[in-house]
Amino acid sequence: MAAPKIEKLLTPYNFTNKDNAGRIKYIVIHYVGALGGAEANCKYYASKYLGASAHYFVGFNGEVWQSVEDEDIAWHCGASSYKHAECRNSNSIGIEMCVRNKGSQSAESKDWYFEEATVNAAIELTKYLMQKYGVPASNVIRHHDVTGKICPNPYVYNSTKHTWDAFKKAISGGTEQKDSMTKITGKSEATAEQMTAYIKAKNGSVAQSVLDMIPLYLSEGEAENIRGDIAFAQSCLETGNFTFSGSAVELSQNNFCGMGVTQNGETGNSFKTPQLGIRAQIQHLKAYANTTKLKQECVDPRFDLVSRGCAPYVEYLGIQENPKSKGWAAGAGYGEKILKILDAIKETGSSQAGDGSPKPDETKKDDDFKEYLITTTCDVLNIRSGAGTDNKVVGAIREVAGKKNKYTIVEEKNGWGRLKSGAGWISLSYTKKVAASTGTTFTPYLITTTCDVLNIRSGAGTGYSVVGAIREVAGKKNKYTIVEEKNGWGRLKSGAGWISLSYTKKAS
Ligand SMILES: [Zn+2]
Repeated sequence: MAAPKIEKLLTPYNFTNKDNAGRIKYIVIHYVGALGGAEANCKYYASKYLGASAHYFVGFNGEVWQSVEDEDIAWHCGASSYKHAECRNSNSIGIEMCVRNKGSQSAESKDWYFEEATVNAAIELTKYLMQKYGVPASNVIRHHDVTGKICPNPYVYNSTKHTWDAFKKAISGGTEQKDSMTKITGKSEATAEQMTAYIKAKNGSVAQSVLDMIPLYLSEGEAENIRGDIAFAQSCLETGNFTFSGSAVELSQNNFCGMGVTQNGETGNSFKTPQLGIRAQIQHLKAYANTTKLKQECVDPRFDLVSRGCAPYVEYLGIQENPKSKGWAAGAGYGEKILKILDAIKETGSSQAGDGSPKPDETKKDDDFKEYLITTTCDVLNIRSGAGTDNKVVGAIREVAGKKNKYTIVEEKNGWGRLKSGAGWISLSYTKKVAASTGTTFTPYLITTTCDVLNIRSGAGTGYSVVGAIREVAGKKNKYTIVEEKNGWGRLKSGAGWISLSYTKKAS
């Protein structure tokens, strides 16, 4: 399906740099919970560090604004405790739906509702992302399903004309995708040792050159975020476990996937080196698996012949099983045959002792480091691309004296700290550690305004729309209760909205 029109205004602050689309397993639906539109939200999240974000905002007229790249992690469903066993920021895409309100704007109000255009565009965007990343309908869930939060409010109460049931039906329409399918995009699960053990067991006289090239399946796969173990299993199928008996190609062609053998009697493509042959196979798989651009130069002579993204799953590589009747091979059950081999490969290593190969997804660096919050002790602090003054300045934290924001450090090196936002590194000599203050420990307090008219906005920042105002007669100030703080803004207990705390003072 064609991509919906997407406006991009990426936030430089509010995301974790990951550059890995293979991480995407879930799509989480939210509502904005305030009255701003998609563009205004996108601009606000791009304006400064907020400690929260989403990949997309879907607006009142169906317009779509993107704030964080799919490959990177947005901070949309993080929590201290979860209802969902697996879905997290790290393996999901977050979509925020803009919302209207006809009365009370409290979180538990039944006055929130969606515009038809917002719902339709959110469905279209979700379906597009599902197909692009092979996310099944069962993995499209609400923020509510992840943490229990009443979000998206109209899809938790289901008391307006738009219900969650209807949304799920709409995205499930047509080609129902099963949970159990195997995505071609992503990281290998089998190791080179397992593949080597498997092929030796199946083909006692396997050529040494074949054993030598097995790691290339993993490295070439990783380069394009395609599962190299699936490619290897496919090669086992196409070459008769590298015996090439009954195969149209021979070992010297470096063509391990029957590429170009479209009818009997053809000899297929040849490649200069095993590496190029494997690279072509990986690229050809990628052509089927998704619509992401190639990272390396294209060496697959048949890449452009593929209808991109028509087979996100191994199961769909067989034309007979593919809902669009497209695919790599015509024979019945082609994908199932590959998966049977893949399962056998994965079992090979697991039954052997001493297979201590690390899982590819784990980085030990961040695991034992406990992230913490800091504020700066100077007005302007350079952000650099690495830990040290010999690295390039890529930005700066600028603070107004007396009003310091908090930043999260996720890694330390030589007295430098890496910012969680992905912006870069700062010298820790100009910072001090501070305690986290949001959420559970917040004590509500009273304020009076220090001006005659103070705007109330739908969110914490001038990027949100004005929804009202506090108007006071000089000399007669009312007191208001602040129940939450964010970036110098305070949320009114009344549910009316947010006010800038710069124009208030604490009252008793
Ligand atoms: Zn939410």
